[in-house]
Formats: sequence, structure tokens, C-alpha cells
Amino acid sequence: MQTVGHSEHTLKTALISKNPELVKQYEQLDPGEQRLLNEAFRPRSDLFGPITLHSPSDWIISHPEAPQDFEQFFSNLHRKSPSPGKQTIYIQCIGQILTFLKKKKPEDAFCVVGVTMIDLYPRESWNFVFGQASLTEGVGIFSFARYGTDFYSSHYKGKLKKLERKSSSDYSVFNDYYLPEATSVLLLRSCKTLTHEIGHIFGLRHCQWLACLMQGSNHLEEADRRPLDLCPICLRKLQSAVGFRLRDRYKALVRWIDAESTDTPRVTPKHSREELVTLPKPVEAFKEWKEWVTRCLAVLQK
Ligand SMILES: [Zn+2]
Ligand SMILES: [Zn+2]
Repeated sequence: MQTVGHSEHTLKTALISKNPELVKQYEQLDPGEQRLLNEAFRPRSDLFGPITLHSPSDWIISHPEAPQDFEQFFSNLHRKSPSPGKQTIYIQCIGQILTFLKKKKPEDAFCVVGVTMIDLYPRESWNFVFGQASLTEGVGIFSFARYGTDFYSSHYKGKLKKLERKSSSDYSVFNDYYLPEATSVLLLRSCKTLTHEIGHIFGLRHCQWLACLMQGSNHLEEADRRPLDLCPICLRKLQSAVGFRLRDRYKALVRWIDAESTDTPRVTPKHSREELVTLPKPVEAFKEWKEWVTRCLAVLQK
């Protein structure tokens, strides 16, 4: 197995940069935060490792693109940052696609991400809205249908029976659509896709520095291989865009894992109480990740 190797010096520059302003900004982070971020270039770090290459169809081999270091990210005039009036990330579960598409983005939305268990790409000719995020619009829509363990099996129950659409506004094939079981693996895959794509909305490009959530992925096996969290270089980008303490972020992640269910109220003023659903949250597949987050917290609090 090959790895994408970078020298200590390259990773250090990608993280801290050579721009005196950005170096100064970095030095103002608290010692714990610097200690954690510095793991990016510490040889044999047990928190962050290199990107591994498994086959020529892997993203980094088949999609050559320029890497983005912290300085390039920071100086991109078009990247989006939340503002006091626009800082909510809306995750919209979509049953009726058309209704969703007609809905306006709420005033205080930083972005709206539509998620659905319906396969949005049932036929070759329907090449629309399949896992796309638009940086400028702050919207994205994703289907997790193909993340179910049964999607590629011959007994997958979600295959469309009705093959033709009557008109471009006919979405009736999606009525009573088959929903795969919400397994722990499906939840993990969905979280990875969702947070990766939201990262793009914040202006993070694909990561070529270390094993990282922001690595591009070409196929499911490669997506499974990338970790659920950001490498220090991408983490500094997100921190700079959003403005949070690393400790608060990791603690919030542990709280999310430990909470029994996805208890976020999914109501908008128009919805009735019956739609306040508590979804089960199978988290067995997140165990390793939780241990990793806990180790990061230990480094921050040393
Ligand atoms: Zn991507
Ligand atoms: Zn990264």
C-alpha cells in the first residue's frame, strides 16, 4: 500500500503558512490548540496519518487538482463564512422533493442541506441533484440511499418499478419510496458525506495533506476509508471560518455520540407536533471515532 508522503516542512507550511500575519494569528491560539494542530507535522503522530492509496481509481490519482493550504484558503475572497444574521445550517429531510425545491432558504440560513433516503439518480438520464453542494448558493442536496448495506444486492427493494416520467415536474415515482434500514454504518457514511459537503460550502477544497474527511472519494470503499474528522490543516480552515474553540468542538462531538438519539427537533412553524419525530441513532460504528476524539481532547487539555 502506498501513502502520500509530505515532509515535515511542507505540512508545517501548509498549516501555519509563511505569511507573517497568519503566523501571528497561529501563535495567538492557546497552547493546547497549537499542540493538537502541530500533530499535523509531528513524525509518527498517533492522531493523524498520511493519505493511503489503494488503487488507481482512488480520487487523488484520478482527479489531479492543486492542493489548498491554509493561506490559500484564507485568502480566497469567495469563500463563505457565517455572519451574525446568517449562521444556521439547516438540514432538511426531504420527502417531497418538489415541495422542498420550491421552499425558500430561511433568512438566517448560512446554508441549507437537503437529505433524503430516496435514490435521486435512478436512471442514467436523470443526472440531476445527486450529492451536489453549491458554494455560491449555500445549498446542497444528498441522497443516502446508496449507503444502505443492501443497495447493491439483487434483492434491493428500492428499484423503481415505474420507469418513465410523464413530465419534468412529475415526481410521483418517489411516492411511497422504499427506505433502507437506518443502520449504524449508514449513519456513519451519511455523516461523512454531509460534513464533507458542508466543508466545501465553507470553502475547504479537497485535502491532499493527511488522511482527512476532506479527501476526495471516487467510490464507496474509498469514502469508507477516509476518517470522519478533519486533519489539522483543514481543522484550522474550519476554525478560521466559523470561530470555535477546538475543545468545545470535540466536547460537543462526544456529547452528540453519547446522547441516546437524534433528538434535534425537526419542526418549522408550519409543521404540527406529530412530525416531531425522535429518530433512533445506532452508533456502534462511531466507537473508534469517539475514542479518537477523546484522545484529541487529552492533547488539548494536557
Ligand atoms: Zn468533495
Ligand atoms: Zn485535511
